[in-house]
Amino acid sequence: MPADFDFEFGSLFSQLRATPEEASARAPSSLKARLYSALVRSQQESGPLASLDATVASDHGICIFEKLVQIAPVGEKAKSRFFCQVCHARVLAEKFDSPPIFWPHCPYVEFKGS
Ligand SMILES: [Zn+2]
Repeated sequence: MPADFDFEFGSLFSQLRATPEEASARAPSSLKARLYSALVRSQQESGPLASLDATVASDHGICIFEKLVQIAPVGEKAKSRFFCQVCHARVLAEKFDSPPIFWPHCPYVEFKGS
C-alpha cells in the first residue's frame, strides 16, 4: 500500500470528524422516546415481544406497571405486550425532554439521563 494512501486516507478521515460542538450534541430525550415507541411498535408487527417472566429471568429490570402485569394471574401470551405503551411515562417522555417521571427500569424514565 503506498505511503501517500495512508496520508490521503487520514486527510479524508479527519474531514469527517465532527467539530467539538457537534460531537457533544445529543438527541433530545423526547426524540429518543418517540423513536423507541416506534421501534417497539414495529418489532411487535413481526411477532410477540419477550414475556415479562423471560425478561426478569434474564436479569433485566421491568417497570412498575410491567411488574403489576407480571404478578397477575394471566397467561404467558398476555405478558408479551408492550405495556409501557399505556404507561403515562411514555406520554410525558414523548412530549417533554425532562418529564416528571422517576420510577426505575422504565425505558422512558431512563431516556431522561441519556
Ligand atoms: Zn413503563
